[in-house]
Formats: sequence, C-alpha cells, structure tokens
Amino acid sequence: MDLNYRCEATCPETKARAGRFVTPHGEVPTPIFMPVGTLGTVKGVGPFELEALGARIILGNTYHLAIRPGIETVRALGGMHGMAAWRRGILTDSGGFQMLSLADLRKVSEEGVRFRNHLDGGLLNLTPEHSIEIQTAIGSDIMMCLDHLEPADAPRKVHEDALARTTRWALRCLAARTRDDQALFAIVQGGIDLELRQRSAEALADHPFDGFAVGGLSVGESQTAMYETLEFTTPFLPLDRPRYLMGVGTPEDLVEGVARGVDMFDCVMPTRNARKGGLFVDGGRRKVNLKNARFKMERGPLDPECTCFTCSHFSAGYLRHLLMANEFLAHRLLSIHNLHIYLDLMRGIRRAIIAGRFGEFRRDFIAGCQPR
Ligand SMILES: [Zn+2]
Repeated sequence: MDLNYRCEATCPETKARAGRFVTPHGEVPTPIFMPVGTLGTVKGVGPFELEALGARIILGNTYHLAIRPGIETVRALGGMHGMAAWRRGILTDSGGFQMLSLADLRKVSEEGVRFRNHLDGGLLNLTPEHSIEIQTAIGSDIMMCLDHLEPADAPRKVHEDALARTTRWALRCLAARTRDDQALFAIVQGGIDLELRQRSAEALADHPFDGFAVGGLSVGESQTAMYETLEFTTPFLPLDRPRYLMGVGTPEDLVEGVARGVDMFDCVMPTRNARKGGLFVDGGRRKVNLKNARFKMERGPLDPECTCFTCSHFSAGYLRHLLMANEFLAHRLLSIHNLHIYLDLMRGIRRAIIAGRFGEFRRDFIAGCQPR
C-alpha cells in the first residue's frame, strides 16, 4: 500500500526533511519516533497514555508475537490493533533482528531461518512468506521484509552473502503480500562496507516497496562508522518514500540520523532505561540516574524543563522512592517521561526543519549534550 509520503520541507544545510505519510490508522508526521511494543504492549504504558504522549505509530514484533501468544490467538483477538486497543499506526519488525539477538538458537538457509524459540525450545521456521503471513495476521500498517542480519564485525564475504539473500527474501516478501491495506518496507544491509551498502540499496530501490529501512546498524560498530554508513546510504534511497533507521538510538543519534535523511526511528532505549532509573533530561541532552542519592529528598521535578505528566505531578524524590521499592508505578511514570522526551524531541526537530533552522537546532543540541 502506497503511504503517499509527501515531503514538506528540507533543510538547506543537511539532508534533514519533514514530511508526512498516511496509514489506514491515521497520518504520521515525520521525522517520527516509534515506541517499541515488542509483545503487543509498550511495557507499562497504556494505549490511552501513548495517545496522550502524541505517539502516532508503535512497533510490534513478529517473532515474539508468533511465539507468544501465537499467531492464531493474535488473529482471534482481532490482530494487534484489536487486542491492544490501539487506534493508531503499527509497524511490525519481521523477526530478522532476533536472528542476531538469539544467534545461538538459529540456523539460516536460503529457505529461511529456523529458530529454537527462547521460551520452550520449540522450532519456528521463519521464511519470508511465513513472516508476511504472521505480519498479516497481526494487521500492522507497515510490515518489514525478513532480512538476514549479521554482526558489524563479520567478514565482508558474510555481509555480501547476507545482503544478496536479504534482496532475494525481500522479493519473496513482496510476492507473498495478500492485503492491499498494509505497506511493506525493504531493509538495506551490508554492514559498514560502503560498497556493499550501495549494492544493497540499489538492488532494493528498483522494486515497488513502500519504504526503505537501513538495518544492521547500532549492532556493535562505532558511532562514527554508523553515521558514516548512514550518510553514505540514504542518497541511494528513493526520495518519494519514507526511510527508517532500525533500532537507533540515543537522542543525539536521532538528531544526527535526521541530519542524514532519516524519517523514522525506533528504539527500546527510552523505556528499557526508564525501568532501570536511567532518565533523559534537558530535552534529551543529558541522562541522569534516578537511583543517585542526590534525588532522595528532591521535592522538585525530575526535569524542571519537562512538561510530561510525571514531571508535572511528582517530585523526583517520590519517583526515586517508587523505583527503589520496585513499584510498578515507577516503571510506568518513568517510561512516560522518557517517551515524552523522545517524542517531544522529534516534534522539535520537525518544527525546526519546517522553520528552516534545523542546522542551528542541531548545533545547539549537540553542543548541549553531555560528553560521552
Ligand atoms: Zn517529564
């Protein structure tokens, strides 16, 4: 399904662009951050809260939902929109990333990937066709092609084979699509080898995919290598369709990703860090550890600049108490704060691009970031 991507403004200094696309569950302004709801829920955060945060599209995961609760159950419960009472967009990851994260349990062949699942060791045979079948049952607005992902430091030959297979699998995914209300994105692979990235992007860009993702980054390579690979790759992708950088990253990475022409991001970082007390503050420029004793009796908000529900209602000292006591509410409130930081950062970026001052926004932001 064509998402009717429209570019509304471009940055004169960088490759940043602001635009929008349309899904059956609403319009999505870009650049956008997509909260991650692997198992059909953004951990601890309800759909009504996600709407209040301004989230327009969230992620679900093919591999995880296929294993639990199982695809027949997802289908019976109305797909992910129905079961999760989520009215806006959903993008489903294809299961390709689990090829890397659950590497001990997999076997890759031309046919597909065979996993021993991480719950009971049962076999899951994930072929491109089966991945599409699962994503069709989930009913996502945007499906991802099954891709073959290898670690950044794998030998060139391994990346070369993986990207060629990714292209063949992407074409099988295209052929396996049965619904016309679901978009399908292809994934560029090639490690941090620029020639391989070009080969992958050009091979995929020839085909009628509805968007393109840059995969296989933020998997162990340096930040410099990631930015360089991204900078090089995006110009090979069609201008009239959205570009998605998978699994990235820190607030700084989002700003730098946008500067390199990316429209869509997802990352578990805001929610996963929140549950451990890692909170982004100052618009995402800095991160604090709420477990730090200096917050113990802090009557003021966690982040004086923040307008989220959590910072508007609770003191940092109380939030720290909830966290130390491992209360459910801590996970909820802190996830809401971090998601607000991410979503609000993207709104700020978008406004800056439209106003023609993204270059300045980026310089100010990066200058204010805490040193790594
Ligand atoms: Zn806040």
